[in-house]
Amino acid sequence: MSITCCLNIEPWVNKRVGFTPDLHAEDDPDRYVANIRRQQEIVREYFAGERYVPFAGDAIEPPCVNLGSMIVKGELLGIQVDPKSGAALSHPWCELETVAQVEALRIPDIRQCPGYAQKLRKYRDLAARFDGVIPGRRVGFLWGQCGKAIASPMNMVFDLVGEEVFVRMLTDPELVHAYFRKVMDIHAMLWEVKREVEGQDFTSSYLADCTNTMLSPETFVEFALPRNREFAQRFPRLESHNCGVVTHLLAHIAAYGPFQWVEIGWGTDLSRAREFFGESVLLMPRLGVNFMQSFTPEQVYARTVEILHQTAAAGPVCLHSNCICPDRTREETLRTLFAAVADFEAGAARVKEQP
Ligand SMILES: [Zn+2]
Repeated sequence: MSITCCLNIEPWVNKRVGFTPDLHAEDDPDRYVANIRRQQEIVREYFAGERYVPFAGDAIEPPCVNLGSMIVKGELLGIQVDPKSGAALSHPWCELETVAQVEALRIPDIRQCPGYAQKLRKYRDLAARFDGVIPGRRVGFLWGQCGKAIASPMNMVFDLVGEEVFVRMLTDPELVHAYFRKVMDIHAMLWEVKREVEGQDFTSSYLADCTNTMLSPETFVEFALPRNREFAQRFPRLESHNCGVVTHLLAHIAAYGPFQWVEIGWGTDLSRAREFFGESVLLMPRLGVNFMQSFTPEQVYARTVEILHQTAAAGPVCLHSNCICPDRTREETLRTLFAAVADFEAGAARVKEQP
């Protein structure tokens, strides 16, 4: 039996350090570095001896990410971008009415973008203080590997045009396909730049497919799956992140694998997920929407045991916090989670009523 816990404790730790999201590395690098060091100490202090794998998220993005989203939202689409916020000043979708218009969009090389060299220098200065690797960017939850999140093409399109994409899937499917292909090209370019900036220290990446829960199987197969497959071909060790209910898509998600690990959203039938992905895949079930914040210790215990019953007997499991452990998470919640895992492994888990 192989069970670990992967908790994104960044907000939780930040609260104890007094680190606020307003403190940007670029504004005050000394304070930023001191805070990161303090975060690391706190993690060691609180979780010494626990089988816990820290997950730190978005402390600082390499410059390609910020500029990339500006390009996607503005420059690429030939519209004005607010240089400070990076926000597009007009809605891109309404300016693209034909497949030809979408296909004709220019993809600028972000290395040529104003501000890129400056941002890159700041990023590298900061990284140098941590022997070249900024700790917040390392997600070492799988056997010491380093995973990198990539927004799936569907995520990205949804982010750009919102719910309108679903209407367009019905009224202008060819336009939607063209848009997806274009987003895919931008993505591949950004990823290459990201690799140059961050180096080759990571060994796997994962496709953040948060929008899956909103798609029917037919829609997934028609619009998302071809692009996900393309991505999996370009980046062979691609894993899959799903944060909502995806029972209805399991077979189709499996179709762009094979995966080493799959994150499965709260509410999904976990026993079926195990069936689809097999015994060798590390399943990463998400604990639940309010798990960290609102569950009583009894509920935390019961839910943890329930998930393990559904998944752990037939393969490796990594219990995953639901994106983040909010800053209000009680230490008791975390300790109860670890205790439930230990009891389950020892065959001594108390079976309780469902929360
Ligand atoms: Zn997600």
